[in-house]
Amino acid sequence: MHISAHQICKIYGIGANRVTALDNVSLEIKSGDFISIMGPSGSGKSTLLHLLSGLDRPTSGQLTYDGTDIYSFADKDLAAFRRRRIGFIFQQFNLLPPLTALENICMPLLLDKRQPDNAYLQKLCSLLDIRERLSHLPHELSGGQQQRVAIARALITQPEVIFADEPTGNLDSKNGSEVLALLRQIHQQLGKTLVIITHDSRIAQQATRRLQIIDGILTENQTPQKED
Ligand code: ADP
Ligand code: MG
Repeated sequence: MHISAHQICKIYGIGANRVTALDNVSLEIKSGDFISIMGPSGSGKSTLLHLLSGLDRPTSGQLTYDGTDIYSFADKDLAAFRRRRIGFIFQQFNLLPPLTALENICMPLLLDKRQPDNAYLQKLCSLLDIRERLSHLPHELSGGQQQRVAIARALITQPEVIFADEPTGNLDSKNGSEVLALLRQIHQQLGKTLVIITHDSRIAQQATRRLQIIDGILTENQTPQKED
């Protein structure tokens, strides 16, 4: 899937409260890319990820997925597109508290009245090491386990692209390293396109493309990558 963002601007507020969160951002994301995005707090990272994934709409600019302009969709259709084609992982996990881990994982399918493919569900839960936790509620799980459930939820519809907004930001370093290793596996073994916002230079070093955002302006770090 080829994702193309063209001159995206996002302005919040009016008058004295006006904030230009994204200033003319253009970006091409190719199938199989592993992109890291770094930048100071308030620089526009989350805004960019929300716009790239159709969670929000820009003030101006276009976004296409394989040539289809997704901002032209009505809200309901945009939500359905997102649910079916895009995985999103949040810093705060965003699991629904009254639902079990399994129900949370399957929610994107249930909204479309679809059943999970059992073999794929088992494979995901093994990969993420949550098979023993599927009947637990989120508050009965550690932070690392909650994030692994959230990753399973992001993958259950088999999207080609996964966006993650500081996925290790709420985890201690051990759990953070485990989640990072899983995301790398998801990129390498499942062949997913991965776009990760991070403050962690270890994650950024593993990405195949490194982007930086400062005051809403996106640049790509062109330093040559280590060859091995
Ligand atoms: P980051 O994720 O890099 O910390 P954000 O994308 O969350 O940055 O925010 C970028 C800028 O936009 C900040 O100045 C923030 O205060 C502002 N902003 C974000 N969301 C809103 C909103 N819903 N209303 C008004 N301003 C916002
Ligand atoms: Mg943010």
